[in-house]
Amino acid sequence: MTTQHTPVLIVGAGAAGLATAALLAKHGAESLVVEKRREVFRYPKARNLSFRTLEVLRGLGLADEVHAVGAATPDMVVKPALNSAEELPAIDIAAIFAGLEGLSPEPVIQYCPQSRLEPILVRHIRNHRNEVRYGTELAAVDQDASGVSSVLRDVDSGETTSIRSDYLVAADGVHSHLRDVLGISASGRGALPIYVVFIYFRGPWQRFVPHLGDGASVQVKNTDVDGIFVPADGDLCVFITTYFPDRGQTAGEFTEQRCRDLILSAVGEPIEIEIIDIAPWQPYQRVADSFVCGRAFLVGDAAHAMPPFRAGGANVAVQSADNLAWKLAAVLHGQAGPELLTTYHDERHPVGAFSSRQSLTGPVLKLLDIDAELDADEEEPMFALLAGHRYRSAAVISDTAPTSAPPDLVTDLRGQPGTRIPHLWLEDGRLSTLDLVGTGFTLLTAENRDTWASAASEHIAVQTISDEDREAWLCSTGLSPSGALLVRPDSFVAWRAESLPPDPTAELSRALHTIMAS
Ligand SMILES: Cc1cc2nc3c(=O)[nH]c(=O)nc-3n(C[C@H](O)[C@H](O)[C@H](O)COP(=O)(O)OP(=O)(O)OC[C@H]3O[C@@H](n4cnc5c(N)ncnc54)[C@H](O)[C@@H]3O)c2cc1C
Repeated sequence: MTTQHTPVLIVGAGAAGLATAALLAKHGAESLVVEKRREVFRYPKARNLSFRTLEVLRGLGLADEVHAVGAATPDMVVKPALNSAEELPAIDIAAIFAGLEGLSPEPVIQYCPQSRLEPILVRHIRNHRNEVRYGTELAAVDQDASGVSSVLRDVDSGETTSIRSDYLVAADGVHSHLRDVLGISASGRGALPIYVVFIYFRGPWQRFVPHLGDGASVQVKNTDVDGIFVPADGDLCVFITTYFPDRGQTAGEFTEQRCRDLILSAVGEPIEIEIIDIAPWQPYQRVADSFVCGRAFLVGDAAHAMPPFRAGGANVAVQSADNLAWKLAAVLHGQAGPELLTTYHDERHPVGAFSSRQSLTGPVLKLLDIDAELDADEEEPMFALLAGHRYRSAAVISDTAPTSAPPDLVTDLRGQPGTRIPHLWLEDGRLSTLDLVGTGFTLLTAENRDTWASAASEHIAVQTISDEDREAWLCSTGLSPSGALLVRPDSFVAWRAESLPPDPTAELSRALHTIMAS
């Protein structure tokens, strides 16, 4: 058996694995994604992307493709039957995300179901000549001091191949086998007492709601049935309903005939439908106690599983991938020491744990008539979940003490070390400050360009805010005109100079060496 080599082997082609591969490619690092499914996932799962995820996709050059998918936020309405004229809004999405406008060049929230996002990411990865291999599962893995040896199995032929990689990314989902193999424990509530059945069917259900936009979902609630029609692709739909074991109900009762009856009862009149699949599902709240084990890294649900009621597992997954990818690439390229990789856990574990716990509440729980699992006074605003965290690690230089228990939360983004840089429209709205961040480190300043530029090594790109945008920049960051922000490739502030230091060369060099552990 010949042994192939790849710098990074990624197990799992969900949102986490694909985002990691796409971001590694952006940073010039090769990877191989293996996925035991035979094809791209065709069901929606996560439907909406938050602005922070959209910013990551924008950085990949995928904003236009994602925007083309659909409306900013599809309607969600409630009706006594699908064919009824009666209709009320089910969730006030605008209220949930109120106050977040203007924080980003991207919409606060945008419809892009995983079934549409995953093919976009796969195309992007393949366009960068990296491989996503479907129908291939990881069968065995063993790591040593210099790399990881894995055995891959073709799910159809059973044929095995050996592969050696420098690093392994476990993006194998909520029931991560790799997490167990690596001996990583996990904390949290585990399976939540929420018993869902997904009934996938084909049928012309949308003809009853032609006035609702693309991606709109309809909850039907009456004495016989309570469930939500969620569009998947064309006439493929998932009808989501729940059952209650404490009332003696079981998943086994959802036979094809029962599912057909339920859907027709929800429609309110007979229509032709074809049941495609019936899948029971329980959400999990579970966070790995370590996101790093030697040369292996957990991302996505393998690291931080959460019910899809608030923070959104796919969103947090993409953001963890964004945190890990540039660090892996920097180490693979010899620009950083391996210690940089441990900051992935230091930075993302507090955020993953926080997001997971905060997801024990939210409006969808109320919609499903399920009690929130978190006290209302523990519920943090959406800003805290989406962008309000400040990383604390060796990859951030900060002289302020944390203001709260992990994660350290801020109430606004003003260029504090460890936070995502503030977004400002520049050049009459043609460009965002986020667009100035490249694949390496970027120094943003409004003045003394030449001094800063000669102080910066070739590893730092210097970007100057123009005179027209200067006031807004200074006001938003609180910097003096000669000050600067050193920004990491993931758009987080690594170091902040309030004003031009006496020896900017020495200061910048010290900052970069500290962050890159080099
Ligand atoms: C009904 C539902 C609604 C959701 N709604 C939202 C939402 O609104 N917003 C949001 O952000 N998130 C939502 N989520 C959560 C979101 O789907 C997940 O958080 C996200 O998919 C996590 O991605 P992942 O890549 O970590 O895991 P997954 O998507 O589960 O991918 C893991 C992959 O690993 C593969 N795999 C496992 N073991 C192996 C192996 N040994 N070899 C090869 N491949 C392997 C699996 O086949 C799988 O494809 C929802 C989830 C569900 C189920």
